[in-house]
Amino acid sequence: MTYLNFNGAELEVGKIVCLLRSYAAHAEEMGSVLLDEPDFFLKPPTTIIRDGQDIIIPKESNMVHHEVELAVIIGKEGHFIPKEHAMKHVLGYSILIDVTARDIQAQAKKDGRPWTVSKGFDTFAPMSSIVPKSKINDPYGLDIWLKVNGEYRQKSNTSLLLFKISEIITSISKVMTLEPGDIIATGTPEGVSQIVPGDTVEAGIDGLGTLNVGVQE
Ligand code: MG
Repeated sequence: MTYLNFNGAELEVGKIVCLLRSYAAHAEEMGSVLLDEPDFFLKPPTTIIRDGQDIIIPKESNMVHHEVELAVIIGKEGHFIPKEHAMKHVLGYSILIDVTARDIQAQAKKDGRPWTVSKGFDTFAPMSSIVPKSKINDPYGLDIWLKVNGEYRQKSNTSLLLFKISEIITSISKVMTLEPGDIIATGTPEGVSQIVPGDTVEAGIDGLGTLNVGVQE
C-alpha cells in the first residue's frame, strides 16, 4: 500500500486520475486538439515517490519526460458529484510530476493502444506533501514551474487551466466513484522535456512549496 502524510496521519492513496490537454500551450506542443470536456487516464499508486527520492529511468524507454502538475487530493467519497458541491470533496493540494515514457506513449498512440505502460512505471509520480485546501485561497492564480539542473523547463500559471477543479471532479465522478486518498493530477503546462540519469529535478507551485527529486538508471 502507498501512504501519504496529512496533518500527522497516514492517508492511504487510492487511484491517481490524470487529466490530459488541460493547458492549451501543452496541447499545442504535443500537436493535440483541445477537448470540450475533461478526459483522463489512470496511474497506479505504486508510481508515487516522495521528496528526496529518485525517478528510475526504465530500460524500456529512451525518452522519459517530466510534466509538472497541480494535484488535488480527495477527502470525501462521491459519485455523480454536482459542480456546486465538488470543492467539498477536496482535502488539499500538492505538486505532482506526471513522469512519462514519451517514446512508449508515442508508439501506443500510433497503434491505438492504452497509455498505461508509458505512465505507469514505478517512481513515475513524485509528489510533495499535501497542503490543506484552506491554505490555498485561489487555486487558479498559482505559478507552476519545473527546473532541471537549476534551469527552467516549465513556467506557467494555473490561471491557464482550461477546466475548473469542480468541473474536473464532476466529469471524473460521472465515471468512477472518487474516494478519500484518490489524487487528481490536473495536467501539465508547456515545456515538457527529457530527463536523464544524473539530473536533478525541482518543481514548485505557489503555496505548496517545492519538490526535489533525482534521476537514476
Ligand atoms: Mg500529465
